Amino acid sequence: MKLQNLAIIFAIIVIPISLVLQYYIGTQIDTIKLQTTYDEKLTTAVSDAIKAYQINTANNPYALISNSQKRDVEAAIEMFMTSFATGLGVGGYGETQIKPYIPAILFTLYDGYYIYAPTFNYDDESQKFEHILKPYTTYTSRYKKAGTDILVSYTLDNYITVTGIISGTYENRSGYLINQNISLEPETLREKLLIYNPLTGSTSLEEYEYIYQGGEKRYYDPLSTDSSNRKWFLYRNGIKNYVFITEEQQEDINAVTYIEEAKEFTAWVDANLGDITLNDLVLEDGIKQRNENHIYMGENGNNKIFDSQENNFESEDSTFNIHKRDIMRISIKENLSSAITNYSEHSEALGTNVEFRLPTLEEAEWDQITKNICMAVFVQGMPVGIKTYNNYAIINNTRNKNYVDQEGLCFINSSDGNYHRIDCPYLEENNIQGYRQTDFERSAVEITTDEGRENMYYYKHTNLPCYYCIVDRNYDRVELTLERLQALRQTLGRERQLLHY
Ligand SMILES: [Zn+2]
Repeated sequence: MKLQNLAIIFAIIVIPISLVLQYYIGTQIDTIKLQTTYDEKLTTAVSDAIKAYQINTANNPYALISNSQKRDVEAAIEMFMTSFATGLGVGGYGETQIKPYIPAILFTLYDGYYIYAPTFNYDDESQKFEHILKPYTTYTSRYKKAGTDILVSYTLDNYITVTGIISGTYENRSGYLINQNISLEPETLREKLLIYNPLTGSTSLEEYEYIYQGGEKRYYDPLSTDSSNRKWFLYRNGIKNYVFITEEQQEDINAVTYIEEAKEFTAWVDANLGDITLNDLVLEDGIKQRNENHIYMGENGNNKIFDSQENNFESEDSTFNIHKRDIMRISIKENLSSAITNYSEHSEALGTNVEFRLPTLEEAEWDQITKNICMAVFVQGMPVGIKTYNNYAIINNTRNKNYVDQEGLCFINSSDGNYHRIDCPYLEENNIQGYRQTDFERSAVEITTDEGRENMYYYKHTNLPCYYCIVDRNYDRVELTLERLQALRQTLGRERQLLHY
């Protein structure tokens, strides 16, 4: 064969291949680009949802009431859908078009979680198969031994609820587990209020001492102008409403009450549940087998879960805390997995035939889920270019109101006008006093003026964020001295007491 013929044959064979390859690689690149865009949009949408949740809960200071929780979670999910659909904005991917590819959304809270997933809606007469928010699940597990059969409900911190039969008697108790034999002091708390004067229509920022009582703040006004000479007032819509307080308690005793109640509760738990071990956990066989690796048992089976001698309740490595996180993880995993499998079986109802399954989450991601309030969104089988898009995003709510830990607290002193984290080297040890971080953020108050209702904004504490520990967050943490430790415990104790008043 002539060389020219070979060349022609070569060209006939190679050119189409290269053209196809070129097209294929081009599409691949487009697909990868599109996947990256989807990743970004997914993360942004979940962050938007968490922000919406923060805004909705901001003016709802100590909301552990399930009705408002449910409403706030529903609003956050709604925000996610809108943000994700808008973000993708491709080929008319409206909310109804993206929903079939979302097998589940998980929203964890202080003492349990919600799962939003497609399911038969029995509340609806048509029993439609659609995305609904399933009933709230608490982090509860059962323990059984001679004479004792109890349910223990866990939370993100050391607060537990115990119900059931203990040595033949029915009990129902809740409280914090603590180890330290410390004492806390009554304290003088202060904050600024935006006071509205209806006569002049003007406002002024005024500072008052307050005590927290019965779920609300009572402010002390030594220069009271009240006709009945009442010195305490409630703050409502920018106005001081003077009230009588029978026993004039001048200082806030929430921290003191917290420690007294926690000590008493811990002593009761020690006496009644001290001998309960990991082996006493009651779990269905199937669940037990599926989660063998995560049930902290085996040779540790005799470890005592609630004994205060054997457990440092503040330490993440204590039997109590490891076991608690296992219980949370098993509960979430089992329920998510069953919701997703159930959707797989009925996915044609929403027009897909994707095989949905719970992806394997990494240890760090489980930690994120079981140590925080967070939202996790799973997306599967969504068409992207020549492939399908599968991913998930987990975002923590770092500014929450319904749970308090060291991270959520900030501290001021008499030396500078900044607020700090407790372990910041720039926090001088001069009358350290702590508040929640959210107390340093802008507050809103609805005021009724001549022109109608108006939202006005003010700061309860006019301190500025410390550049090093609050803004930059990159600082050399100092060892907690006794004074710092005391301020931290005092604030944590007070704020925890307020959550469960
Ligand atoms: Zn600082």
